[in-house]
Amino acid sequence: MRIVLVGPPGAGKGTQAAYLAKNLAIPHISTGDLFRANISQGTPLGLKAKEYMSAGQLVPDSVTIGMAEDRMDQEDAAGGFLLDGFPRNIGQAEALDAYLSGKGLRLDAVLDLEVPEDEVVKRIAGRRICRADSSHVFHVIYNQPRTEGVCDVCGGELYQRDDDREDTVRKRLEVYHSETEPIIDYYKAQGLVVTISALGKVAEVTQRAMEALP
Ligand code: ADP
Ligand code: ADP
Ligand code: ADP
Repeated sequence: MRIVLVGPPGAGKGTQAAYLAKNLAIPHISTGDLFRANISQGTPLGLKAKEYMSAGQLVPDSVTIGMAEDRMDQEDAAGGFLLDGFPRNIGQAEALDAYLSGKGLRLDAVLDLEVPEDEVVKRIAGRRICRADSSHVFHVIYNQPRTEGVCDVCGGELYQRDDDREDTVRKRLEVYHSETEPIIDYYKAQGLVVTISALGKVAEVTQRAMEALP
């Protein structure tokens, strides 16, 4: 299965991706996690990405598309993958189509997570992620770790992303509406979009997603 997850920041894409990827036995590919790993390793790509991420803007396609393709080229992604946070604009969606069709492949579905904006704001405000691996995601109220401040998965330190502060969040939501939302219509034209509500418990949303996917 080749699946794209779409939804506003804070919708629960990363959280759901961890469970869906496990259920479907495909790798979870998050461009946000790839950027954060590059930033913590101090790579040139990380340095470049950081200025855009801190401002709540999209990292340029010239950087992002190559990074995503390199990841999809890895052996574990040969049989399928779950893309989280990519594509994020029409240019990236077209690049992904070209990449896949060049290999005789296509997407199976685009899973659209729907959440009201006030809920998204609450989810982002309490989000804490792991320093060792930013795909380990918690919430101070809704998804508490067993020990406060400590990652259940790997024991790493939990912290708040600097782009999860209020002023940057507002910018990211704007960017979502203006640049990312249009890809939903782009994929609707290909008959790929499955929309589900992302409200409710994490496990309920996972079940809804598994039932909705082809
Ligand atoms: P969220 O799901 O909360 O929006 P992500 O971890 O997906 O957060 O993304 C964090 C930031 O990383 C984005 O605001 C953006 O700056 C950058 N980013 C992630 N994926 C992409 C992408 N596909 N294109 C451009 N920038 C991206
Ligand atoms: P995204 O990747 O779309 O930005 P995350 O998966 O990081 O979103 O989730 C955002 C925050 O909301 C995290 O703190 C996460 O623990 C929390 N969260 C995820 N799913 C739910 C849910 N169903 N109910 C309440 N909180 C949730
Ligand atoms: P279960 O949900 O069956 O109790 P686990 O809690 O061990 O199983 O987690 C299942 C998978 O989800 C594991 O691969 C783990 O790495 C991942 N996982 C667990 N909690 C989180 C989290 N808060 N954020 C991201 N991934 C997580």
